[in-house]
Amino acid sequence: MPLISGNWKMNHHHFEAIQFIQKLAYLLQKQDFDEVEVSVHPPFTDLRSLQTLIDADQLRFKLGAQNCHSDDKGAFTGEISPVFLAKLGVQYVIVGHSERREMFGETDDFVAQKVASVLKHGMFPILCVGETLAEHESGLTLDKVRRQVRAGLDKRSSDQVKSMVIAYEPIWAIGTGKNASPDQAQEVAAAIREEVATLISRPAAEAIRIQYGGSVKAGTIADIMRLPDVDGVLVGGASLDPTEFARIVQYRHHSG
Ligand code: PEP
Repeated sequence: MPLISGNWKMNHHHFEAIQFIQKLAYLLQKQDFDEVEVSVHPPFTDLRSLQTLIDADQLRFKLGAQNCHSDDKGAFTGEISPVFLAKLGVQYVIVGHSERREMFGETDDFVAQKVASVLKHGMFPILCVGETLAEHESGLTLDKVRRQVRAGLDKRSSDQVKSMVIAYEPIWAIGTGKNASPDQAQEVAAAIREEVATLISRPAAEAIRIQYGGSVKAGTIADIMRLPDVDGVLVGGASLDPTEFARIVQYRHHSG
């Protein structure tokens, strides 16, 4: 089933998060959840409130987190353990988002440890990969993305990889209003799937879900979801408004 994920980044405190989810739940129909999986990734401080709301009202959103540490516990001031996330009913954890890699210096190695840890605690990583504008313009996109995929999946079993999601997010398209063209997005998504087949197994490559991310909006999602190797989207800015996000989730019923 396609996975549509909303990454709120550092937006919406817990009161706003509650209002958001109530409004989104009102806008979506049962059929939407039958056809599309929807995860929301609020700031850590909102998770407990949303867990309570989702449980109490039996909502069908999947709770997600934007990051976690790779260790279960210890002297890591300010960090969040994957154990805590699992306890809060979190199912999907974004790992290696380009903002974490570029602004907070997360290395391929650290990202791989987080992937392992998220899986160990029964959650599903959304492993983000993608090239900078300079890499894009120098024709290095596939090299970079393949390297990040190899690093992130290192030592993972075929069954583990089957449960994972890889989000291809060209960094130059995040929050900029620019999109990779459908042809570019398909080329990279297909290359990611091939890399998974070579590195892990053909069944893992067929089962893993590949998202596209980068300025996705209600008006652009339909063209992206038509691509044979794209199984969902990771949405930042446009996931902050419940009406726009609902239209993204309902992409099958409109053309823009
Ligand atoms: C993101 O944060 O992963 C993202 C794709 O952001 P935006 O949709 O705003 O480009």
